[in-house]
Amino acid sequence: MGFEKFGRISFTSQTKLSAFVDYLEKGELRATKCKQCGKVFFPPRADCDACLGSDMEWVKIEGTGKLVSFTEAQYAPTGFEADVPYTLALADFDGVRVFGRMSRDVPLDGMKVGMAVKAEVVAMPDGQLTYQFIRL
Ligand SMILES: [Zn+2]
Repeated sequence: MGFEKFGRISFTSQTKLSAFVDYLEKGELRATKCKQCGKVFFPPRADCDACLGSDMEWVKIEGTGKLVSFTEAQYAPTGFEADVPYTLALADFDGVRVFGRMSRDVPLDGMKVGMAVKAEVVAMPDGQLTYQFIRL
């Protein structure tokens, strides 16, 4: 595959994935699911890396997730320095692994692998939408 084609594919992907933000606006966190083989992607992908299909549907990340792993982050990108430290977490929702931040309401020493979490959409002070995990 040449880079020319690669560039075109990633451009297409981004256009197709803009729906992710539309769903966040509705308070929904969604992944993409390959209609052909059923593989679910989070973060969403427009093309399946398992069967190379591109017929995807949006599925909700909902219900109870299980904390798989977490770590305290001491580094933040420029502009987010005031955020540190924060906790990054990986949670499993019915086999779908979702990576995100843990809510500040949950102290690091109050977290443990296997605990039940929920993903919720939150608006940042600047109006940007994101999502975080909260303890159930
Ligand atoms: Zn597939």
